[in-house]
Amino acid sequence: MAKIKKKIKKIKIDADKCNGCRGCEIVCSSFHATPKYSEINPARSRIQVISHRLKNIWLPVFAGEYTPAECMGRDKYIIDGREYSECDFCRAACPSRDIFKEPDSGLPLKCDMCESDPPLEKPMCVQKCLNEVLTYEEREEEVEEEVKMDDREIGLGSMIDKYGLQKVMDTVSRMSHKGQ
Ligand code: SF4
Ligand code: SF4
Repeated sequence: MAKIKKKIKKIKIDADKCNGCRGCEIVCSSFHATPKYSEINPARSRIQVISHRLKNIWLPVFAGEYTPAECMGRDKYIIDGREYSECDFCRAACPSRDIFKEPDSGLPLKCDMCESDPPLEKPMCVQKCLNEVLTYEEREEEVEEEVKMDDREIGLGSMIDKYGLQKVMDTVSRMSHKGQ
């Protein structure tokens, strides 16, 4: 497979500094609204602050890959005496929970590092976090060229997993007849 130069974007998370203000969720949902900045809905954010107030846990987690199946087992983490729940660190949009999914359609959400044209100097959540929890870094790496699925393909795949191929095909066929 051919090698290409790829810009690797990374956000470092210093979770101990997070106070749960949820500014990152607000700005992410607003930046990704259509049209941009037309709506604020933290449920649509691609970063979610996992919080357990009584345990003093505020953990910003970025939406990662969609997965059609939930894990067979669950892990528990104890860090500095604080116990984190089984799925707290997980970035997947998965069938066992509601986060990282569009609230209306249930389609999976994924952090896209605020890809935009013209590009931003730093992702929006990094810019808006006043507590310096999030730090942005970039570097170049040589990687193998990959065939990437775009958001529409991932969305369609997740609908097929949820409702079955036949139902999705029937719906698409019904919709295409309406449009004629
Ligand atoms: S904006 Fe920063 S401090 Fe506020 S919830 Fe997000 S990561 Fe935490
Ligand atoms: S990098 Fe951009 S897309 Fe990703 S969580 Fe932050 S604001 Fe949202």
